[in-house]
Amino acid sequence: MHLTVYCASSRDLPLRYTFAATRLGDAIARHGHTLVYGGGATGLMGTVARAVHQGGGRVVGIIPEALKAREGVAYDACDELIVTDTMAERKRLMFTRADAFLVLPGGIGTLEEFFEVLTLRVLGYHDKPIVLVSTDGFYRDLVAFLDRLEREGFVRAGDQTRFLIVEDPEEALVAVEALVEPPS
Ligand code: AMP
Repeated sequence: MHLTVYCASSRDLPLRYTFAATRLGDAIARHGHTLVYGGGATGLMGTVARAVHQGGGRVVGIIPEALKAREGVAYDACDELIVTDTMAERKRLMFTRADAFLVLPGGIGTLEEFFEVLTLRVLGYHDKPIVLVSTDGFYRDLVAFLDRLEREGFVRAGDQTRFLIVEDPEEALVAVEALVEPPS
């Protein structure tokens, strides 16, 4: 499978998140999947990509020209590094290349990516699995807020079930593997 991973670009995060990114990258390689991600070298992005490589797996990075031009941002060791003209094109490719989406802890960029693929799924544009990896309860408050939106009628009942939440990165892979049909 091609697994698109969204996650933090920020440096110097608490170690528990770095461990989770390493575990996910290692599991992606061991399970024989390909990582598709934003092509960054920093934060959890760099950690997950390096862990995939360490495990002998394949890494596809998709990065906009403007970000790549900045020193130290891109992970040059990607097996395939696709440089796009715009951020919109980059997000489109990260979407179309994916069999499923995995969301590790992250900031505004990660949340934006999560909500975009979730919105598209709720509206019926795709039915690819979306899994939040909630390391140490990272996404607990977000899920509580989404529960409130559902209770108060801002979100249709059931829409929330269109993503899964797991604590452990390997569990995320097992869940996705059970949902995605192997190509015939
Ligand atoms: P954030 O969660 O705000 O750190 O943003 C990370 C997400 O946004 C990643 O999944 C990337 O797709 C994108 N992104 C943000 N900053 C960068 C960067 N420096 N290099 C590559 N991608 C980035």
